[in-house]
Parts: sequence; C-alpha cells; structure tokens
Amino acid sequence: MFCETNSNVSEVVLYTKCPRKVYFASRNETIADDIKKPYIRHLLLKELALSCAEIARSQQEMFPLLQTRVEEIVQEIITIYSDELEHIDENQFKDAVEDVYEVLPAIAANLKSQSDEEMIELITPVEIEPLMHSDKLNLTGAPSAIVFHDNQKIPLLIKTSNAPKQGVWKNDRIPLAAYSMLAEETYGQPVNSAVLFYASQGQARPVRIRPAERREVLNILKRIEKIKNGKMPQAKRGKLCVYCPYEHMCESQGDSLASKFF
Ligand code: SF4
Repeated sequence: MFCETNSNVSEVVLYTKCPRKVYFASRNETIADDIKKPYIRHLLLKELALSCAEIARSQQEMFPLLQTRVEEIVQEIITIYSDELEHIDENQFKDAVEDVYEVLPAIAANLKSQSDEEMIELITPVEIEPLMHSDKLNLTGAPSAIVFHDNQKIPLLIKTSNAPKQGVWKNDRIPLAAYSMLAEETYGQPVNSAVLFYASQGQARPVRIRPAERREVLNILKRIEKIKNGKMPQAKRGKLCVYCPYEHMCESQGDSLASKFF
C-alpha cells in the first residue's frame, strides 16, 4: 500500500491551497460558518452544469432553457442539499439566485459556440458524483461526474470560478489527476484525460493528464500522511489568509523552524 492513512481528494485540493489547512482540518478544527452567498451560488451552478449537455443537445434557443432549468433548481436545491442548506439565510439565497441569472447569457453564448457533438459528449454525465476508492493509493473521492469519451470513462470536475483564457488553472490539474487515478482503478482501464467544466461561463476544457501531475499527487499524499501524523507544515501566507477560517489558530502557531524544513 502506498500510504497507511486513507486520504480524500478534497484533502489533496486543500493541500494545494495551503498545506497547513490540512493540518487544522485533520484535527477537526472546524469553524462554524454561516452558509454564504458564494457557496449557494456554487451549488446552483453545479446543478445547472449537470443539465448543460441536455440543453446543448436540444438544438433550441439555449437562454430560455437555462432560465427554466434554474427555476427548477431553485425549487429542488433545498431537497438535494438538505443538510448543508438547513439554516439558509433567505436574502443570501435570493442574491445567489440573482447572480446565477446574471451569468446565463454568457453560459448560453458559450454553449452555443461550442456545441458540437464532441463537446456535448465531454459534459454528458454517465454517473454523477460516484464515490471511488483506491486500495493501492489509500485514496477516496467523488468527482462531479463521470463522462464517456474516446472509449474511456473519464472524470469531470465542475468549477464555478472564472476560467483562464486557455486550458485550466495549474492547481486544478492536481485534483483532475487524482480523480483519473481513482477512475483507472475503479473501472479497470487506463485514464489519461479528464474534463474541467467552468460552469459560470459554460466552458468545457479537456485536459491531458501528465506523468508530472500523477507524481505530484503521490508526493502530496505522502506529505498529507505526515501532516495527519502530527507534522505541522509551513504556513503558506498570502493575501487569501484573511479569508481562511484557521487564520487565528495559524497565527498563534507561528512558523516553527521544523516546519520550514518540512
Ligand atoms: S492563515 Fe494562511 S497560512 Fe495559515 S492556514 Fe490559513 S491559508 Fe494557510
């Protein structure tokens, strides 16, 4: 077995943001937080993204179809995410829905401009959020969906942040590689590509998974195991620290000499 401790792809993602966040999260240092508008917006767009292939395939005017689908999602979302949205603030919810309506013209335009059969195939879910596990890697995770492309079942990840001009953001390559490695073991087939769907813009980006990214996933898993066993990693201080729920705890820990060499 590659690592003794089971990890989740969500921890790999957290590591790419800041290794020290993995340290606090693994110690159940959870911070109660209100459900805020960006998270509700994210959930709404994620649900919409799962219907985009069907809408693109319909060959009808896309904007009204997207509007109708958002109306349905608004009714369904509390049932789908009943735990997460239990104590939702009504105003935050309304603002999030408005935000989603604002991006519909851009989604419709991009879906229209890219809607050839190959692109539609890349965003057509054949399974949604399948929970996958690898005994070899001691890794678990659920991508947003699995799609079927080039005779392979490949992972699809839905992001609601802005897309780069071309390709995908560097950090997004790591979870895609991790999900590909899980899909390989789950379906017993080689998986050398994945898809990132930037939902707020309706942009699908196919990604070739490179050996360097697979290697990086393995290295991150080894480092996560050390962190879970008690090693405090170095703080990755930056402008995003002000949004970090662990900021207070992190500052009080300082940067030990040992952590600098970790
Ligand atoms: S405050 Fe900054 S350095 Fe500390 S855990 Fe959060 S993101 Fe990392």
